Amino acid sequence: MSTTASAPRPAGTARRTETPDHRHQVVIIGGGSAGLTVAARLRRRRPDLDVAVVEPSDRHFYQPLWTLAGAGVVARERTVRPQRAVTPKGVTWLREAVAAFEPDRNQVRTDSGRTVAYDALVVAPGIQVDWDAVAGLPQALGRDGVASNWSYESVASTWEFLRGFRGGTALFTLPATPVKCPGAAQKIMYLADDHLRRAGLRDRSRIVFASAAGSIFAVERYARTLRQVLQRKGIETLFQHNLVEVRGRAKEAVLEHVATGERTVLPYDFLHVTPPQGAPDVVSASPLTGAGGWVAVDRHTLRHEGWGNVFALGDASSLPTAKTAAAVRHQARVVVANLLAVLAGTEPAAAYDGYTACPIVTGYRSLVLAEFDYDGQPRETFPFDQSKERYSMYLLKRYALPALYWHGMLRGRA
Ligand SMILES: Cc1cc2nc3c(=O)[nH]c(=O)nc-3n(C[C@H](O)[C@H](O)[C@H](O)COP(=O)(O)OP(=O)(O)OC[C@H]3O[C@@H](n4cnc5c(N)ncnc54)[C@H](O)[C@@H]3O)c2cc1C
Repeated sequence: MSTTASAPRPAGTARRTETPDHRHQVVIIGGGSAGLTVAARLRRRRPDLDVAVVEPSDRHFYQPLWTLAGAGVVARERTVRPQRAVTPKGVTWLREAVAAFEPDRNQVRTDSGRTVAYDALVVAPGIQVDWDAVAGLPQALGRDGVASNWSYESVASTWEFLRGFRGGTALFTLPATPVKCPGAAQKIMYLADDHLRRAGLRDRSRIVFASAAGSIFAVERYARTLRQVLQRKGIETLFQHNLVEVRGRAKEAVLEHVATGERTVLPYDFLHVTPPQGAPDVVSASPLTGAGGWVAVDRHTLRHEGWGNVFALGDASSLPTAKTAAAVRHQARVVVANLLAVLAGTEPAAAYDGYTACPIVTGYRSLVLAEFDYDGQPRETFPFDQSKERYSMYLLKRYALPALYWHGMLRGRA
């Protein structure tokens, strides 16, 4: 299909014509893990298909490695590649952000005012990180011992502050909102514990996990192991406690009990924040939105509940499973099969079962590979008991999974 080139127009001056500025058979919103995996699989299955990805960023991140970057295992530069280099050959990259969805007109509108029309749409703009939702956090982040693995910019400060930590209280938080890879909030804590032991500083340190959740992990099979890990490491837990304020100068964290509203002030020397997150504003303000602001799709077919030619996957979708790249790998197969069915005029037959995975790093040489479905039933890959900590699974995360991502998922092969 053809693409109509036109000069950029400033935001807010969109022409309301019937002729879109661009037209493609399949338009994918977001060139992150989900968007590019779908694009690559579509191209592999149907090289004749005209596919475009709308993505504003010129850098693509492999975020699962941010945990190891924050712990000093890999340089953060290893987690980023130019968007151009990872966009599949033959796929058009429109370097813009979507500003509005107009599903009745089969088009989206970008922040430069252009319209992009489609036969089928895949929505995958990820999750929005709301740093501002914790008072004082934007000001404190990256200084005075406050760090976060939840962005490429701030992940460098995690290792910088951990390396410079000489004892005191190290506080790790998990918010009351959905987040991408919730397990990552505790992974960096276990790595910090291991680092402090190796540095001979553990007996001078207190480690506290303040989590808005009610338990250490949602699936009991893995929670059992993690409770033992917490005990072995001497980590204190404050469940149902949500971080609401960071007093950077005073080095104090204000925690609020999610049920009683009671506030506790905890002094810290190092603070790792998992920030509140939510549906992107552009999604929650659109006709595609459903409960919680997420793109409302059927949990099995991943097809939109209101528009049959619209699909969603990944962190921005309403799918009630842990938001991970591992889940995206399984979702992408279903989206591609069902989208091709819809384009061919048949009903979607492929079904997603909620598969997700969380490689919970428990130290520099150990990992519990949690894999489960919508019902919390284990969906383990290996023939051994994955609820046990293993060095082999750590090596999987460190070496095999990044390779699987760059060379498998992003090329439509895995
Ligand atoms: C610290 C950390 C550790 C993690 N660990 C793991 C792990 O061990 N295992 C695992 O499987 N997963 C892990 N994840 C989660 C994983 O990275 C995400 O679940 C995955 O990237 C989701 O893919 P996505 O495409 O939905 O979102 P993303 O990969 O975030 O991509 C979204 C894309 O949409 C673009 N976008 C945003 N707004 C717009 C717009 N308006 N228009 C167009 N494009 C837009 C963005 O620029 C971005 O490129 C981790 C994440 C973090 C932060």
